[in-house]
Amino acid sequence: MDYETVIGLEVHVELLTESKLFCSCPNRFAAEPNINTCPGCLGFPGILPQLNAAAVKKALTAALALNCEVALYSYFDRKNYFYPDISKGYQISQFHVPIGSNGYIDIKDDQGSTKRIRIGRVHMEEDAGKLVHSPAGDTSLVDYNRAGVPLIEVVTEPDLRSPGEAKYYLEKLKSILQYADVSDCKMEEGSLRCDANISLRPLGSDALGSKTELKNMNSFKAVERSLEYEIRRQRDILISGGEVVSQTRRWEENSQKTFAMRGKLQAHDYRCFVDPELAPIQLTAEEVEEARRNLPEQAEARAARFVKDYKLPGYDAAVLTVSRSLADYFEACLQAYDNPKTAANWIMGELMAKLNTAGIEVDRCSFTPASMAELLIMIDEGLISGKLAKEILDQSFSSGKSPRRIVVEENLVQISDHGELEKVIRQMIEKHPDSVENYRAGKTKALGFLVGQAMAETKGKANPQLVNELLLRALES
Ligand SMILES: [Zn+2]
Repeated sequence: MDYETVIGLEVHVELLTESKLFCSCPNRFAAEPNINTCPGCLGFPGILPQLNAAAVKKALTAALALNCEVALYSYFDRKNYFYPDISKGYQISQFHVPIGSNGYIDIKDDQGSTKRIRIGRVHMEEDAGKLVHSPAGDTSLVDYNRAGVPLIEVVTEPDLRSPGEAKYYLEKLKSILQYADVSDCKMEEGSLRCDANISLRPLGSDALGSKTELKNMNSFKAVERSLEYEIRRQRDILISGGEVVSQTRRWEENSQKTFAMRGKLQAHDYRCFVDPELAPIQLTAEEVEEARRNLPEQAEARAARFVKDYKLPGYDAAVLTVSRSLADYFEACLQAYDNPKTAANWIMGELMAKLNTAGIEVDRCSFTPASMAELLIMIDEGLISGKLAKEILDQSFSSGKSPRRIVVEENLVQISDHGELEKVIRQMIEKHPDSVENYRAGKTKALGFLVGQAMAETKGKANPQLVNELLLRALES
């Protein structure tokens, strides 16, 4: 029998706010445990939560960017469960009425055509702390820096049909939320986390099969792999006549397998009820319309603007808008440098190659847009050659020093002094009489060799055009 895969995703995204959801502790990724905490987010009794208005704004923006209907009246519930990373014994979340519902994202499916993925709900909640397990596995410590950080959870309907579609969906969701300035969506820092529900059913059937929930995937690649693994596992069970147990399973990166964690909890297990300490969220239609008008530009619109305003080819515009941080980098570079196509070439070529090798995103790189502009200006001024510029970019990328400073400190300024270059050229002519003869006998290749020698002699600092000119003059005389 042939089976069809049914996937739904639940994505938690940390909101880009200054402070936490119900207290004024900083909402910042921190290496030192428990420094961003207060009695409120540590879960001490008797501390009243106070809702952060900025978080509501971000959640509203997210709901609108994901084409949701917005609830003008929504509120928070307590989701009750015990785990050491949530010391109150309950998580504050929107269970009964989410701020956004019935939205969608359009993605490309495996065949390349557009497919609409429905988003059932977007709700607000607080994040939990984090357990840190000792390598030996005998102790666990708890870090509450993350406790109370504002989150939205974006839940799809079971509309995805393959691991590839799931990956497309996540990439699109990340792009939309980054462009909307809702979240930085950094999976490696946990600001975007994805759980996947997956089941199989006989092809042509409308009923949903018994599903498993997958957790602990820390990259889009891991989401794709864990789903592929789970499809094989569930298919084997079904083919051999068994039943898939509804449970929560953990993806293990090392073994590339999923393992059973626990039976799947149902909504009623959490005994959700309205949080009596928090006032409801009441939005006006005007507030929602204002937020809709102020939605930041999305990737497609920005790419179109790059083509129109900067006369870039469509391909360049698409590459430069692949993430908001890259598009921002490009435009920041243009603040100090006015040739968009040259800036685009250097960013898409040299810079992106360096970022890929280093495995970092552009907003974490020490080669700033101002440095890029500085480098390109020095090339245009004839101070450095394109070849030398690449070496300077290399150095600046790893040290963070400005390109001009590197040029000054290492005395790298291009030699354009006629007298100095003529001296070098005379030396090369004396050193390579064969090449001179070859050139005079009509072998023009020899010219290239002599230019190369002169460049090497000056450690690449000679102005190559000038060397060419002066050498020709010397050989013809
Ligand atoms: Zn706090």
